[in-house]
Amino acid sequence: MTERIFNFSAGPAMLPVPVLEQAQREMLSLPGVGMSVMEISHRSKEFDDIINSAEQSLRELMGIPENYRVLFLQGGASLQFSMIPINLLPGGGSADYIVTGSWGKKAVKEAKRVGGVNVAASTQDGGFKNIPPQDQLKLDPHAAYVHITTNETIEGVEWHAEPEVGEVPLVADASSDILSHPIPLEKYALIYAGAQKNMGPSGVTLVIIRDDLLARIPDGLHTMLDYRTHVENKSLYNTPNTWGIYILNLVCQWLKEKGGLDGMHRENEAKAKMIYDAIDATDFYRGHADPEARSLMNVTFRLPSEDLEKQFAKEATAAGLDGLKGHRSVGGIRASIYNAFPREGAEALVAFMKEFEKKNG
Ligand SMILES: *Cc1c(COP(=O)(O)O)cnc(C)c1O
Repeated sequence: MTERIFNFSAGPAMLPVPVLEQAQREMLSLPGVGMSVMEISHRSKEFDDIINSAEQSLRELMGIPENYRVLFLQGGASLQFSMIPINLLPGGGSADYIVTGSWGKKAVKEAKRVGGVNVAASTQDGGFKNIPPQDQLKLDPHAAYVHITTNETIEGVEWHAEPEVGEVPLVADASSDILSHPIPLEKYALIYAGAQKNMGPSGVTLVIIRDDLLARIPDGLHTMLDYRTHVENKSLYNTPNTWGIYILNLVCQWLKEKGGLDGMHRENEAKAKMIYDAIDATDFYRGHADPEARSLMNVTFRLPSEDLEKQFAKEATAAGLDGLKGHRSVGGIRASIYNAFPREGAEALVAFMKEFEKKNG
């Protein structure tokens, strides 16, 4: 048995240890099946039970109403950057995008290939440090939808309340904060997320879509790119990522044992507070995001110099705290502390930060 370290990776990220252990026990034979979940048909009764359980558990955990469909797709959140406008941005129409970081910019890039894009607000000039206030949103009441990124994984900036968008459907990339806290689901028309930050392994993309949006989809789309294909076939039009859906289902069971999303939210707040408090306690560390917009999932901060940041990440790795180097596009340090990340890891980071400052401050 090799020791597990504290893994601060932004994604793929830590999975709950009990989930990994159960998967290990069931690797060679699912109980009563005699085969690995990777070896059974996606059309078997056994897999049907798994995918249904995953959907039901998500419905329960997130409070997903009956008039929403739950889809398990592939292609990552990145394919959704294209699928959303292809399905929902009719010729001649325009969609509003509120850009609060690098992922939102990528979503805009793909939407522009399909139709009109109105950037209703962008915080890029300020270095993606905050969430634009409601009165600065230049929303178009006739927009096909409004797109936001609920948590910008790279910059560490998170929406803590939904923007008011009136009757226009709100579409959200929730890849890095899905299942981390309860949300008022009925405020959203479509939510999507790659699984590999907070739900499971890479290769599964969750899409939650309100029924009425399906009626807007133009005919003649490529079959695999049309949401209706996946709704009508219950995510089994082609072979889905069976292993990924199996793990996602186990993660949902673990979440229920942990007190659901309320329980997770409290735990996530406690972990993040420890690290932000350590940042705020000194001038040696500087948080990237404005305090009101700070992410509970990705804590981003700077040190007095890039050399010190390099040294910090290197020495942290040697001390068993891995994955702290910030994204190559912004530099600095990023501690990703998703649901499965343990409180002891946040404590260990805070202790390391104090020690590092003492030696180098
Ligand atoms: C990681 C991430 C993506 C990209 O996800 P893929 O599944 O790799 O396509 C998109 N948006 C956000 C907010 C992310 O964190």
